[in-house]
Amino acid sequence: MSQQDFFSWAQRREGEEITEEVEREPRQAPRGTGKGRLFLSELPPELGHCLKEVQELHGELQERLGSVDLVLTDNRRRMISAKRRRGGFRLRLHHMFIGCGEEILDAVALLARGGAGSEAARELLKAFIDAHREEISSEVDPQALTTQGEHHDLQALLDRWKDRLGPETLKEVKITWGRYGRGQRTIRFGSYEFGRRLIRIHPALDQEWVPEAFVEFIVYHELLHALFPPKKGSGRRIVHTREFRQMEEKFPGFEEVMAWEARNLYRFLER
Ligand SMILES: [Zn+2]
Repeated sequence: MSQQDFFSWAQRREGEEITEEVEREPRQAPRGTGKGRLFLSELPPELGHCLKEVQELHGELQERLGSVDLVLTDNRRRMISAKRRRGGFRLRLHHMFIGCGEEILDAVALLARGGAGSEAARELLKAFIDAHREEISSEVDPQALTTQGEHHDLQALLDRWKDRLGPETLKEVKITWGRYGRGQRTIRFGSYEFGRRLIRIHPALDQEWVPEAFVEFIVYHELLHALFPPKKGSGRRIVHTREFRQMEEKFPGFEEVMAWEARNLYRFLER
C-alpha cells in the first residue's frame, strides 16, 4: 500500500478514482474478552479521526490475547513491542497497524505469545512494516525544499490555507516543488506524503499561463489530505473520503477551477 496519494486529474476524468469513494459497511466491533486499556496520547493528532478503527484493532487483539493494554505510537524505530503483564499483555504498536488484516493480527498475537510459529510471524511482520515504511515519520531537510517558483510561491499559498483551515494538525505540513514523473495521458499535479507531512507540487504548474487559483487549488487539495487521512478498516483504503470531497468543493471558485482544468489539461500533456 502506498502512502503517497497522487492527484491525477486525467485518471479522475476517466472515473477511476470514483472507486475510492465506495464505502464499505463497517464491521461490527468484536466483543473483546479482555479489559485492557487503550492509550492514544502518542498518536499524531490527525489520526484522531480513526478512533473507531483503533477500537476495532484493540478488540481484535483482545480476542486473540485476552486482556491487552494497547499503546499506539508514532515511534520512528520500534514498530512493535510486546510484554507480558499480570493477566495479559502490554503491546506498543505503530499506527500503521490500524486497519491491518487478520493475518497480521494473528502474527502480532503469535509474536506476543512467543513460542512455536513466532519466527514465521516475525518475518511476516517485517514484510508488513517494510510495505508501510512511508507511514513512519521522518524529518524533512528544510534546505531541500524549494517553495519559491518563477511564477508561483507555494509557501504563500500553503500558509494562506493553513491559516484559514486552522487546526494545529497542519502546522507541521511542508511543501516543495517536486516532480513525480509524467505519463503520456496523465500528470500528477500534487502528492501528499503522510510520514514526512510533505506536499509536492509538480513544477509544470510553475508557468505564467497557469492561474494562481489553479495552483492554489492543488495545494488546498493536498493539504486536505493532512486533515482527512485515508480511512482504514475492512475492505480497501478510501483516500478521498466523503468528508474530503465535501470540503474540496468548498474551495472558492471550485467550478471555475474544474472548468479551467478541463480546458487546459492537454497543454500539460502535449510536450
Ligand atoms: Zn488526493
